[in-house]
Amino acid sequence: METCFIYKYHKSVESLSKIFNKININGVMLFNEPLAKHSTFNIGGNADVFASPKDISSLENILSVLKENNIPWFILGGGANILFSDSGFRGAVIDMKGFSSISFNGNIIKSGAGVEFSLLAEEACRKSLSGLEYFYGMPGTTGGSVYMNARCYEKSVSDILYKVSYLDNLGKICEYRVKQSDFGYKVSPFQNTGNIILAAEFILQQSGKEILLTKAAEFKKDRTAKGHYSYPCAGSVFKNNRDFGHPSGKIIDSLGLRGFSIGGAQVSPLHANIIINNGNATAADIKELIQLIEDKVFKTYGFRLEKEIIYID
Ligand SMILES: Cc1cc2nc3c(=O)[nH]c(=O)nc-3n(C[C@H](O)[C@H](O)[C@H](O)COP(=O)(O)OP(=O)(O)OC[C@H]3O[C@@H](n4cnc5c(N)ncnc54)[C@H](O)[C@@H]3O)c2cc1C
Repeated sequence: METCFIYKYHKSVESLSKIFNKININGVMLFNEPLAKHSTFNIGGNADVFASPKDISSLENILSVLKENNIPWFILGGGANILFSDSGFRGAVIDMKGFSSISFNGNIIKSGAGVEFSLLAEEACRKSLSGLEYFYGMPGTTGGSVYMNARCYEKSVSDILYKVSYLDNLGKICEYRVKQSDFGYKVSPFQNTGNIILAAEFILQQSGKEILLTKAAEFKKDRTAKGHYSYPCAGSVFKNNRDFGHPSGKIIDSLGLRGFSIGGAQVSPLHANIIINNGNATAADIKELIQLIEDKVFKTYGFRLEKEIIYID
């Protein structure tokens, strides 16, 4: 989790707004912002501070204030793989969606961290460039998808990723060139480092625009058929592990848990590895259901499923 943990943090929202009102940033600063609005689960209490910088110097200014005042922070993309807590976030959530530029250089597409990844896929298809179409319809941003090394229809982000620029813990802008050995299934070298992804470049292949747009639309249609967009959710709850012999969804299904509910949280009737918010779910409901699944799987099969969803507490 991209959070800077500081012990004994207790600043009032009023004092935080005074601190931030003194600095100039290109972007938006909100206080007491409901995080449910920023997560695909539609769940989460308020963040003391919700900062949406639009450029690097604004991001740097925000970070320096946070560091000076020992205020914890969390870096947010599209909120499509996380579960915010019911009590919200004491500190600052930094929303990266303001980093929204897209540019092309031959077969290379460069994306700001905050670009909707599905939109990037569509832009690539429109330029007759192949490689990103697999991700069309997947919620989230470029930054979050690189961080998670998202994987759709047998294609991982790392298969096409070329370069990443990021801000390191010391505030230095760095460039990373992909080494395949740094990546794994839903694993990237950015996880748990505190580095903030600013932009990423992908190497694509020339192809036919119409073929690509058709393929992309088929992927999205498949997601629609699987109910991905029917209820608020965060996609797959658990990673798949080949050693377990079956995908996590099948394993959960085998325990008869499809459709099972706790409070407003329900194992999707359409896909057992997805938990949906049935309208009034709390983070506590979702966590309890996840824990129940983990325990039942362990009791029955003797192994533990690994969570893909990240808890932000
Ligand atoms: C309906 C649905 C279907 C989905 N299908 C798939 C699928 O097929 N395959 C798949 O892999 N995933 C899937 N997901 C999960 C999700 O779409 C991906 O994990 C996506 O890549 C998350 O991106 P995000 O921007 O929303 O990240 P967030 O959820 O906002 O953040 C995830 C993590 O990335 C970090 N992060 C985000 N941006 C940055 C940044 N700029 N710098 C550093 N760290 C950052 C966050 O701190 C957090 O730790 C699905 C989700 C939904 C809701």
